[in-house]
Amino acid sequence: MPKTSYAGRHRPAAKPSRGRQFVVPVALLSSTVAGGLVIRDAGASELSPEAAAMKNVSNSVAGLGLTADPEAVTAAAANRAGARSSRDMVRDAKTIIVGASQTATQTAAEAQAAAAKAAADQAAAQKAKAAAAAKAKQDAAARALAQAHRWVSPVSGYTLTSGFGFRWGKMHPAQDLACPVGSSVHSLSSGTVVFAGRSTEGYGNFVKIRYWDGTVSWMAHNSRLLVSVGEQVSPGQIVAYSGSTGNSTGPHVHLEIHPGDGSAVPPLVWLAQRGVTL
Ligand SMILES: [Zn+2]
Repeated sequence: MPKTSYAGRHRPAAKPSRGRQFVVPVALLSSTVAGGLVIRDAGASELSPEAAAMKNVSNSVAGLGLTADPEAVTAAAANRAGARSSRDMVRDAKTIIVGASQTATQTAAEAQAAAAKAAADQAAAQKAKAAAAAKAKQDAAARALAQAHRWVSPVSGYTLTSGFGFRWGKMHPAQDLACPVGSSVHSLSSGTVVFAGRSTEGYGNFVKIRYWDGTVSWMAHNSRLLVSVGEQVSPGQIVAYSGSTGNSTGPHVHLEIHPGDGSAVPPLVWLAQRGVTL
């Protein structure tokens, strides 16, 4: 198994043999010449490049009387200088590579930090966006609920006539709102129609609505009903047109308010507590 790693001083990888060809033979030359041994008989074809080079130099030395060929010496020196130069270049290249590597490491770290920051920023932005969306949804729901739960007047363009209390020795548990026949009668808020039809007790065309808070309104003496039992109604929705049907002395809306479907309470007070002033 040949030894593949080179443990000695560094040589340029591109031209490993040049140093051997010139540097080593010149070193050997001194001892060869000093020892009186001159390689001059061997044929050039049988020699290795190193030996051939040595032979050439030796022949020159022999021919010139122990003086080395100046060109060969200069070439060897140039090669040594070249080798040093190459070592310097390698050293420089190593410095550059180490520097570049450090720069690359630094750049990678910076890029990683920037990416982490960007990801954090994006996450924060998404969180803020989600929070804003959630808040917008919440606000919209709150607005929708407020809209659904608002209270409105049963009719517009009316005159308050008989109020809540005893009238002609008899309890009148309502507020009468005199208005022309055919006036729009509105649902007071969101609710469900629990009765819509002809009353057998003198209320004429009669509609009862149970609202979202459990309160039930009675609206009587209508000329025409527009809703039926079980129908969902919204605040201000027209549920009837006013009239004077049933036990009535003139066109008006007879309005009763029954909280929790219980006993009637004064409509003006109850509505005023909900922001509706009649
Ligand atoms: Zn009445």
